[in-house]
Amino acid sequence: MPTLPLAPDPSAPARDPRPGLSGLAPDELAGWFTERGEPAYRARQVGDAVWGRSATSVDEIRTLPAPLREAIDGAFRFDTVGDTELRLSDGGLTEKGLHRLSDGTLIESVLMHYPARGAMRERHTLCISSQGGCAVGCPFCATGELGFGRDLETAEIVDQVRHAARRLNAAGQRLTNVVFMGMGEPLLNLDRVLAAVDALNDPRRFGLGARHITVSTSGVVPGIRRLTALGPQFTLAVSLHAARDPLRDVLVPLNRRWPVAEVVGAAREHAAATGRRVTYEATMIDGINDTEADARAMAELLRGDHAHVNLIPMNPVAHTPWSASPDAVVERFAAVLADAGVTATIRRNRGQEIGAACGQLAAERAGEPAPAVVARRRARLVDESAHALRGERSDEPVPTGVGE
Ligand code: SAH
Ligand code: SF4
Repeated sequence: MPTLPLAPDPSAPARDPRPGLSGLAPDELAGWFTERGEPAYRARQVGDAVWGRSATSVDEIRTLPAPLREAIDGAFRFDTVGDTELRLSDGGLTEKGLHRLSDGTLIESVLMHYPARGAMRERHTLCISSQGGCAVGCPFCATGELGFGRDLETAEIVDQVRHAARRLNAAGQRLTNVVFMGMGEPLLNLDRVLAAVDALNDPRRFGLGARHITVSTSGVVPGIRRLTALGPQFTLAVSLHAARDPLRDVLVPLNRRWPVAEVVGAAREHAAATGRRVTYEATMIDGINDTEADARAMAELLRGDHAHVNLIPMNPVAHTPWSASPDAVVERFAAVLADAGVTATIRRNRGQEIGAACGQLAAERAGEPAPAVVARRRARLVDESAHALRGERSDEPVPTGVGE
């Protein structure tokens, strides 16, 4: 395993106050130039460099006079995720990027290459983060275990995409899909996520079609409703994991605030209002949420919906006593869903050996928890899931930072 130079920096500086150029709306950028008495084409020159797929600094925009380049540099950052380390796996088909932000926050993005197959064109999909850490605290998730750090700025979200697009461009390839399935809960940082999607979508900026963007949520109901009111912006994915409240309370702790029926109700309204199919995700955990009864409960919950379920065998993470469901069990689960007319796809996780379950690399960097702490967490999970499997609801509180 290669050594990793990026480590959490305990003496990290305060956050760089200069906004990232990619987080500015076009009129904000234009306004800055107008205020300085600069002609409008100067803003366009900067925009072209920001959204082109090769430049890495303001200094490379040689069409600008040097004093103007300096002034732009003093006011803005060309790139907010400059400090990046890459790890490859799956024979180079998966590239995990660990990015250090200006205040030392570590976030991850994962670029997955899918070669052309039959009628399917080749795809290059980037999975990006929306927050440093996450407040929701799903116990099977490495990010959840890290806890909440902070919301990412719009540019910090967009620059993960620009970074990958530059790498692809250098190899003569293009980014085809972006999924918000990295660290964080996008619907708890919704203003910035929407601004980032706007920049990615805009043909004059990044220019990636709405159909090529997916945002995944653990079930923030007011956020889903807000998206429904806005109309189709991207594909919505809902992390379901379990159809019954007692188990979902444990697996997705914000279920204690917005129970599964409310989440699916909001997703159903979203599908009806936007005409776009909602995708559900279920991480399959051996002996926990993969039983026949769970499959039947999920089939009943989604029966008749315009929905699709992705079943993803759990990526092992250090602090849990759990592991992936065996293939035959996942196949059986999919068959029960299919019997109820609910389509399901089994997805194998990419990049297990580089810790591509989101947040794993950052968690590794945060340092291993003491063995006694890991043992306590495992014992708590065994106990909580045993209660849940008996059908008892959790009396644990809603996680801090979740819900109004
Ligand atoms: N917070 C959002 C988006 C980020 S998580 C959400 O939860 O939907 C993206 C996906 O990764 C979720 O579906 C989550 O359940 C899944 N995931 C997290 N940890 C995993 C693990 N150890 N194995 C497999 N999938 C995992
Ligand atoms: Fe947060 Fe999603 Fe991980 Fe749950 S699965 S802790 S919501 S990032």
